[in-house]
Amino acid sequence: MFIELAEHLRCPVAHEDAYLVLATGAMAGRSIRIGTIGCPVCQAEYVILDGVARFGPPPAPAGPTRAPPAPATVQALLALESPGGYVVLVGSAAALTEALSGLMPGVHFVLVNPVPAPLPAPGWSVLECAQGIPLATMARGIVVGGEYGETGWLTDAARVVLRGQRAVVLSETPQPPPALERMVAGEGMWVGTKR
Ligand SMILES: [Zn+2]
Repeated sequence: MFIELAEHLRCPVAHEDAYLVLATGAMAGRSIRIGTIGCPVCQAEYVILDGVARFGPPPAPAGPTRAPPAPATVQALLALESPGGYVVLVGSAAALTEALSGLMPGVHFVLVNPVPAPLPAPGWSVLECAQGIPLATMARGIVVGGEYGETGWLTDAARVVLRGQRAVVLSETPQPPPALERMVAGEGMWVGTKR
């Protein structure tokens, strides 16, 4: 996990927002290989093992995963014109990681419950969670695998995206949460802008 991501982590338990407390064990460059993350509000403690921040076991896929769309299409839909910041990829959307990082240099990718999990690399970080994306509002864009296309996860995905930035959901059935204004739908996905 990229060390600078630590300031954007949030406890997945429903309570007031607070910065989590990071203790690093082993580092590899600017990536944390082993460490612990503590919540000052509910005292929960989470581990970073093998470079993966583990906030809980990922849920079993709720539906069939489908092949992701062309990376260039997703890049165009995210509409990021400049490098820097973070893009979050949830579930099967993580299959786009290597292609998108080639298309979007300078962006750090945060993979939430990635299927398949890509090999470790400096350009991305992996988080596991059972419910609730353990991130503050910090993303310049998010791509959500269709198996996470239900209301609870989409509401949380919308929370993570910065205002005016986009969420791309790889699902046939548009069910935008209130925080997303649906823009376009088709070809097995839909796009919303954070209000
Ligand atoms: Zn907590």
